[in-house]
Amino acid sequence: MVHALLLCDLEGIAGIYDLHDMPQCHRLYNKEVSVYVNTLIAWGCSKITICDTHSQGDMITLDALDVETSGTDISIVAQAKNLSFEDPYDFAFMIGFHGREDSIGILPHTWRFDFKSMFLKNATQLLPVPIGEVEIFARWLGAHSVPVIMVSGDVAAISEANQFNPYRIVCCVKSVYEQNAHSLDYYDQKITTSINAALSLDRSFCVSHDAEPVYIEFQNQDLAVMLSTEGYQKTNNHLEFKDCADFMNHLYPLIQHMNQFNQQIWQDNVDFVRKIRTLVKDVDRETFITSEYGKILGKSLYFLDAHDRNKVLASLQQNQ
Ligand SMILES: [Zn+2]
Repeated sequence: MVHALLLCDLEGIAGIYDLHDMPQCHRLYNKEVSVYVNTLIAWGCSKITICDTHSQGDMITLDALDVETSGTDISIVAQAKNLSFEDPYDFAFMIGFHGREDSIGILPHTWRFDFKSMFLKNATQLLPVPIGEVEIFARWLGAHSVPVIMVSGDVAAISEANQFNPYRIVCCVKSVYEQNAHSLDYYDQKITTSINAALSLDRSFCVSHDAEPVYIEFQNQDLAVMLSTEGYQKTNNHLEFKDCADFMNHLYPLIQHMNQFNQQIWQDNVDFVRKIRTLVKDVDRETFITSEYGKILGKSLYFLDAHDRNKVLASLQQNQ
């Protein structure tokens, strides 16, 4: 029996350039995942677990997939946190992935809007090495001995997939600059060819090692301070996790803590901006916007941190 894992995300699916067009996203997402399922069934795979990691994980459904399921056991899991490793996976495909925050893409991001970056840093690396969802998932699966034999998605995702492992197959089906340049049917052919190439690899070379600490830098540095009161390890201005599996094990409770603290940050900043407005009520709008403190206050209220607030107060004192 061969058990395959398909770890799927939406942003790197071919043809999707508008994430608000839900009918189109739904159709193209299920269409592309169907290519994997059908190719794996034709190859002789007896069990396939599909994990929809995008948002609530409710976009891939058996009804929407265009597959012939006779004899193959197919199950769908919503979100990575619900994935079980009890019935081991022989290999994994990562489908439809996107690059990290600040990379080129349709919606490049690292988990959330309030993560500025994630990076690796060990004694032998002088500079931090940026890391995104692709490598974090690959290491998390590696910690469970699951080889990631192929990654598909946009150009930044496949670059990250090969940056850390040049051996595995990558399949780029999405470019920022070539919208609608090729028929999606050609991409389906390319995906099928890539899947078959991936299945012929020596899988032992595709297991990612997960043995380095990983760090989060937040858009708002106050978050690291606040989270450290909940027992998270703060190193400099960053949160530190032992490795990617440790980060993944903490991810969902971490998000809940971040949501709570973000509410507090928002309210504190609303109060702060009100206070500043009363202090500068005689300053005209144009002068306010172009002033140093005005520029800082133009940030999102989620991102305004203690450092920014001190700068605003210092700049006001100078002007008085
Ligand atoms: Zn996504």
